[in-house]
Amino acid sequence: MKNIYFLGECMVELRSTGESTMHQSFAGDVYNSAVYLKRCFSEVATSVVSAVGKDKLSDKMLERFHGENIDTQFVFRHENKAPGLYLIETDDTGERRFTYWRNDSAARKIVEFLSDDVVEQFASGDMFFFSGISLAVIEQSKRTQFWQKAEQLKNAGVKVVFDPNYRARLWKNEQEAKTEFEKAFRISDVLLPGVEDLAVLYGVETAEGVLEFCKPYGVEEVIVKNGPESVVTSEAGVSQRHDIIPVKNVVDTTSAGDAFDGVYLGARLTGRTVTDAVQLAASAAGIVIQHPGAIAPKAAFLSAMADAGL
Ligand code: ADP
Repeated sequence: MKNIYFLGECMVELRSTGESTMHQSFAGDVYNSAVYLKRCFSEVATSVVSAVGKDKLSDKMLERFHGENIDTQFVFRHENKAPGLYLIETDDTGERRFTYWRNDSAARKIVEFLSDDVVEQFASGDMFFFSGISLAVIEQSKRTQFWQKAEQLKNAGVKVVFDPNYRARLWKNEQEAKTEFEKAFRISDVLLPGVEDLAVLYGVETAEGVLEFCKPYGVEEVIVKNGPESVVTSEAGVSQRHDIIPVKNVVDTTSAGDAFDGVYLGARLTGRTVTDAVQLAASAAGIVIQHPGAIAPKAAFLSAMADAGL
């Protein structure tokens, strides 16, 4: 059985539904990717690597993971921290506003739980995924340790996968993000950048420009996402452009890139070509943006994926 480890943070999501009512769910970039991968490719063992608390909401979060058939043996329980939380409010003009409480979340402590024993278990896996958000969340004092462990996995033959997912507010300044991203670009076997991420940090404005930017790092497989525009890829030095069908009735683009990543990686782990994997991933992302929130209803998602040829 193929297996993949998604390291990062899942948060409690609160969505304002009235004057004093809220709907509560769970989301976070790597978790979203894990959900969509596992929904489409149940044969791939899919683990989230994170830390939560010992509170009731953490219990509920783990139940949700189980409901999505995600392996939780590496979701550690921190003694006195709790999960991060964010609130989505929509103002009078329909613009969404996000407020976060995540500075002291359990997930920030994840590296403390990555003992030699744990890393050894990851080392027999196929892929190890982390994002720019995962990196930002890891405490600064623990990042050197994180890179050592990632290096260990790479040396053991695990494919290292990185999506930059740049969120300015999570970093002290641009330079801090660039320093960590540089290390991620160097170590990665697969990169899944969005044009927007690199535009802000490096002034690269086109998908082809992103491929050029990635070249010096010698990454085996680069997949560049660009909203409704064509996806551009490079595999073993061969570049390709993949047209996608733009969605007309976009409801909420939250987690489009996450769904794309998860389904792309699942497709590759199950032996699809880059071209087929991009088509499935773009279909998944196109379905997700027609539903509100990060996680689309399972039945509707799977039925649309079946129509897309899964
Ligand atoms: P991110 O969510 O990381 O910002 P993008 O906005 O680039 O990522 O979108 C990720 C993927 O989602 C795209 O590569 C594409 O496949 C799909 N996608 C996004 N917006 C649209 C759209 N309007 N129509 C169809 N597909 C879309």
